[in-house]
Amino acid sequence: MSEKVIIIGGGLAGMSAATALAQLGVSVTLLEKENQLGGHVKNWDRLFPTRRKSDEVLAYFSEHLGKNIDLHLRANIRSISRNGRFTVTLENEVEIKGDAVLIATGYELFDAFRKEEYGYDIYDQVITSAELEGMFRSGEKPLLDGQVPRRIGIVHCVGSRDEKVGNLYCSKVCCVTGVKQAIELREIFPETEIFNFYMDLRMFDRHFEEMYFEAQKEYGINFIRGRVSECAENQDNSIVVKVEDTLTGRPLKITVDLLVLLVGMVPRPETRRIADMLGLPMGDDKFLLPTDEHTKANQTPVEGVFLSGTVKGPGCIAGTVADGRAVAVEIKSFLDKKRTQD
Ligand code: SF4
Repeated sequence: MSEKVIIIGGGLAGMSAATALAQLGVSVTLLEKENQLGGHVKNWDRLFPTRRKSDEVLAYFSEHLGKNIDLHLRANIRSISRNGRFTVTLENEVEIKGDAVLIATGYELFDAFRKEEYGYDIYDQVITSAELEGMFRSGEKPLLDGQVPRRIGIVHCVGSRDEKVGNLYCSKVCCVTGVKQAIELREIFPETEIFNFYMDLRMFDRHFEEMYFEAQKEYGINFIRGRVSECAENQDNSIVVKVEDTLTGRPLKITVDLLVLLVGMVPRPETRRIADMLGLPMGDDKFLLPTDEHTKANQTPVEGVFLSGTVKGPGCIAGTVADGRAVAVEIKSFLDKKRTQD
């Protein structure tokens, strides 16, 4: 068989689809704009709920990618055209031909600076969950001027479920990330009080709820139900968090030394550019729309163009990997059918 699939995006969705297609005997060209594969997962330290190292998951896919994959790193797409087959032209003038295209460009993290009231990029003591994870990964402790923070706040739903920023959807995995990071912070700083400010906890997957109970019972994490309205700096550089406790109906002020913002997932502008080249529709949340969310979740209205992973909306790692495998089967069946028709 000589058909080739062009996969745009070398995160978990793209890697999972590439390994599955290779196992099905389909040639793959994998395009990744960064200088290494792995998407967001390569910046993460440990994964919930088991807290295994993210590198273990990436190592599995790197190992199974095989030698038959034509990999292009630092691949920036200039144009995509179709004349029978698809032609993807890169910025470096390289042209790649394929019989199907898979868009697996994933998401980017919400820019916390847009929630100015939380003080990100204004106060050094306000960081994102991704930055905290980077510290965990490098073994750096989140100290403040060498001091252990006495209190740490974790704010849920930053950039998600928020009409003000235009994102009404839930990013699905930030609740469990917040619980995981609260536990990890408590392990690093056993004397530090930790407060998670949440609207409601969405611990949807296997063993997530157990993690939440563990966080409360074994680690003594405080969960405060309420939306944070504002943060301000005290003279001693601590941060006052104003929040309305929606369980008691009372406004609260809690002072913390470090504030972690659980930033949600947003669509990549680059995906929109690629989608426009191919004439793909997007939803009102600006993520790409499959043909049918239940029965054709990996297909698009454009024949030969497929979607996989968080390019369609927020999702977890296990779901993304499964979706990569699912789309591989869809693509294989499309190519088989096309061959019999040609
Ligand atoms: S997963 Fe939790 S923190 Fe993330 S958007 Fe949904 S409710 Fe908010």
